[in-house]
Amino acid sequence: MSTPSRYAEFHRRSITDRDGFWREQAALIDWHKPFDQVCDYSRPPFATWFAGGLTNLCHNAVDRHLKDRADQNALVFVSTETETEKAYSFRELHAEVQRMAAILLQLGVKKGDRVLIYMPMIAEAAFAILACARIGAIHSVVFGGFASHSLASRIDDAQPVAIISADAGMRGGKVVPYKHLLDEAIALSAHKPAKVLMVNRGLAPLEVVAGRDEDYAALRQQHLNTEVPCEWVDSAHPSYILYTSGTTGKPKGVQRDTAGYAVALAASMRHIYMAQPGETYFSTSDIGWVVGHSYIIYGPLINGMATIMYEGLPTRPDAGIWWQLVEKYKVSVMFSAPTAARVLKKQDPAYLTKYDLSSLKALFLAGEPLDEPTATWMSDAIKKPVIDNYWQTETGWPIMAICNGIEPAPTKYGSPGKAVYGFDVRLIDESSGEEITEPNKKGVIAVEGPLPPGCLQTVWGDDERYVKTYWSSIHGSTMYSTFDWGVRDADGYFYILGRTDDVINVAGHRLGTREIEESISSHPNVAEVAVVGVADQLKGQVAVAFAVLKDPSLAASDADALKLEGAIMKVVDDQLGAVARPARVRFVSVLPKTRSGKLLRRAIQAVCEGRDPGDLTTMEDPTALQQVRDAVSA
Ligand code: AMP
Repeated sequence: MSTPSRYAEFHRRSITDRDGFWREQAALIDWHKPFDQVCDYSRPPFATWFAGGLTNLCHNAVDRHLKDRADQNALVFVSTETETEKAYSFRELHAEVQRMAAILLQLGVKKGDRVLIYMPMIAEAAFAILACARIGAIHSVVFGGFASHSLASRIDDAQPVAIISADAGMRGGKVVPYKHLLDEAIALSAHKPAKVLMVNRGLAPLEVVAGRDEDYAALRQQHLNTEVPCEWVDSAHPSYILYTSGTTGKPKGVQRDTAGYAVALAASMRHIYMAQPGETYFSTSDIGWVVGHSYIIYGPLINGMATIMYEGLPTRPDAGIWWQLVEKYKVSVMFSAPTAARVLKKQDPAYLTKYDLSSLKALFLAGEPLDEPTATWMSDAIKKPVIDNYWQTETGWPIMAICNGIEPAPTKYGSPGKAVYGFDVRLIDESSGEEITEPNKKGVIAVEGPLPPGCLQTVWGDDERYVKTYWSSIHGSTMYSTFDWGVRDADGYFYILGRTDDVINVAGHRLGTREIEESISSHPNVAEVAVVGVADQLKGQVAVAFAVLKDPSLAASDADALKLEGAIMKVVDDQLGAVARPARVRFVSVLPKTRSGKLLRRAIQAVCEGRDPGDLTTMEDPTALQQVRDAVSA
């Protein structure tokens, strides 16, 4: 019998000696009070990691590095939109975070209160996140690309005491104003935050609501030297809520703890990302997504690294910009999404080799399937390993990856690697609920509880939804479902084969088709609509809508149909944000449904992608799919 690899042994121990394993990893962070129990799993599927401990995320990300690296870069803010570049050392970051924390306390924010952050990629957003953690407030960052309706539903769910925002972001040279969307969202929401803190970048006019809106710059002046100590919180104290799309129209608030998250991130920096303190990490994501939380803000800083926060496009002023930053700041680890790589693939590869990339160990890509041609192209272009990894907002860090920090292993393009330590991954046969052990057989990717540290604790305010959504969908057992299909080869490498539910993934951003359908349905001429994800060369998937009109005569001519399509897209832009806008809205007179009224989304999707729609014996109106086919080819 061959001896197991070092990584296989590492993974095995993380499952069979769970407590011993994570006790060792817990030494990677600072504790104000040590924990009594590694994992309290007395109430499955709810797990409490490091029960009895006291710690603080901001202390671990900032304060504890003051001793050894006070003058080293901590946060490097680069905006190619406003042509700003500013590096903050750990000492400076510490001062700015305390100022922001003092402002929050002045505005009445207390431990456990929610603070909603609706901001572009600016340094103040990082100060805001860390300041919340510092005082034990729970932050909820809402992606700046979301519009008033999306924002309002998150305000109502999180019930924030305060909101921190800015006048505007910028994208591709265009100002993207935020304040009017925020005001509209607050008007729409039932919950009204007491205070709104505005960072004024001088990009867009600001209408100030007296008594509610406060000016960040003015308040900062009052607290230049205020010291705000870290609030020591229980390990299980919620650090943040991050909303993500599911199969209903109502976004789910993924709730994360404090200690488990800190330990999981600290460990992942070493074992997965091969990142060492003192180096520079560059993740091109946005703070509005989970990658931004884990690998722009917390992960690198907890690991004592400088982190680059970048506002701008990968191609502006030219496609060399990211690589120029790698050279300038000696980036050792870079993290991006396959869509960004596909965007760069359309540019001259000379841009990627123009700069000295010798500091770079690897480029990690995640968030959506990484196709083999893109991975090969990218790796050839930068002459560095390109490493896929698979995870979700819910898990907060990778479920599958190559843990090169434990033992270097080959990458297989098309696969995000093997099950990561701590994750007891199983492939489940959907119909029988049996575990699939033989290689290359498709199943649902599930995880046996408890989930490792750092994963969601529950759905904010709705334990029942947490259990019902994630732990009750695998036939006959209680396992966490990822809602992804996958196969595992004989070497233990997984391949992800798409979602089992109606969630779609556009350029690495998760969108719920129900949310988009609800938005489109609010157009006065839409009677019924189906939204499906359709394969797209650049973005992986795009949303395509099929709408039945109340008055079809309004789309009788091509010109009218185009006008109506634009009007419907605008409804989505205004309510949810351009990120959710369907690529096309097609008009049909009936939607393909079963006799019991269930939408045949997979059949619609198959037709759009030129595939066989499968068994249609249950379809109510046999002409419906032909209409979809005609609409697609029109
Ligand atoms: P999000 O929570 O928005 O990060 O979306 C998570 C979903 O994105 C997963 O459930 C997968 O469907 C998909 N996903 C994330 N990473 C990968 C990857 N490396 N390969 C394939 N799909 C991925």
